[in-house]
Amino acid sequence: MSAYANNVLEMLKGKYPWEKEYIQSVSEVFKSITPVLDSNREYQSNRILEQLVEPDRSISFRVPWKDDQGRVQVNTGHRVQFNNVLGPYKGGLRFHSSVTLSIIKCLGFEQIFKNALTGLRIGGGKGGSDFNPRGKSDNEIMNFCQSFMLELSRHIGATIDVPAGDIGVGGREIGYLFGMYRRMNKSFEGVLTGKGIAWGGSYLRPEATGYGVVYFAEEMLKNIDDNMDGKVVTVSGFGNVSWGVVKKVNELGGKVITLSGPDGFIHDPDGVTGEKVDYMLKLRLSGNDVVKDYADRFKVKFYPGERPWDIPCDIAFPCATQNELELDDAKNLVKNKVKYLVEGANLPVTLEGMEFLENADIIYGPAKACNAGGVACSCFEMAQNANFMNWTEDEVDNKLHQVMKHIHDQCYEASAEFNKKGNYVFGANVAGFRRVADAMMDQGLS
Ligand code: GLU
Repeated sequence: MSAYANNVLEMLKGKYPWEKEYIQSVSEVFKSITPVLDSNREYQSNRILEQLVEPDRSISFRVPWKDDQGRVQVNTGHRVQFNNVLGPYKGGLRFHSSVTLSIIKCLGFEQIFKNALTGLRIGGGKGGSDFNPRGKSDNEIMNFCQSFMLELSRHIGATIDVPAGDIGVGGREIGYLFGMYRRMNKSFEGVLTGKGIAWGGSYLRPEATGYGVVYFAEEMLKNIDDNMDGKVVTVSGFGNVSWGVVKKVNELGGKVITLSGPDGFIHDPDGVTGEKVDYMLKLRLSGNDVVKDYADRFKVKFYPGERPWDIPCDIAFPCATQNELELDDAKNLVKNKVKYLVEGANLPVTLEGMEFLENADIIYGPAKACNAGGVACSCFEMAQNANFMNWTEDEVDNKLHQVMKHIHDQCYEASAEFNKKGNYVFGANVAGFRRVADAMMDQGLS
């Protein structure tokens, strides 16, 4: 790491020693950008890194709501507006018991570069709450969302900050949040993405992250004259991203043999196809977070408390959550001769795991490049809302495909420019950073 980046990282560790996840995401980017900092000293003289690591603002707030027994419950909400030099703050809301300000800053920092890579007009932000939707009734979810929006609405707007879904926030939650915003502001505007088709949503938004991940993978494969046909694929998670990945891999002739949840993973050697893919939707809607149901129903093996990284495959798609693939998992994958690792979840691999994989003989696609299809489609939703128009499914799919190819090519070219051809982790960090840093320099101290 360059001395400049290292100094800023040490400063950050001294200032926020408890924000471990946030410091992890900053270290990951800083490790890659040394040659860029060396080749352009103006980044240092303008103190671009010091400016980048401090969000424009972080808002934390109380969210009181009543449960079905009439008891008062209190959660904490956050919205971190990180950087808007390229467009309105954009990024999801995560409702999960693990949410802290550090996790939101970690994901928000990552989001800046992800959004920059899309080439679209979106800045970086992220938000959420430690509210756990698991086991809650519809009424409780609505109470919570309305209370959350009561405060959040002061800080967002169609050209200011446009939140979307993430873990624990899907179409239902976006509906309750949007309804409350509309009522409070008397205005029907594209202030959230992931809306229902009938009220301002975009075709393919639910599938877009997963489809985008596979479009990116397809480009990686094509680049070395390979293709998806006949590939054996392991996937973790069972939510939105995994579902989109499974659908698209099947379409391209690959075979998905695993899915996972917080309870363990299932191994389905015949492949997750047909009614099994639809069953993934049912599992998600059940709000139960268990994949054992899939094993019981389709009579396949269930491994309680384990992750699927010991199962031999050609391509691994971690699509569940951050830090779900550790050093030992990475070693197992390589031992079993995995050829590609493509990240669907945000930051799914630990720093140690990443370091190992970067030096192993595999092709590695990082989340900020591979899973940018979701946020890209959100930006398409904003464009449609701004014009009071709806694009067809084919139009959205074509544009999504173009954006993913553009991201792939930018990452590849950046890796080649610095003699690291095919190192997509490096290429994504460099290409994303340069776009944001240059816009910051153009716009001066602001
Ligand atoms: N939560 C998604 C992500 O991590 C989507 C964000 C958005 O659509 O704004 O990129």
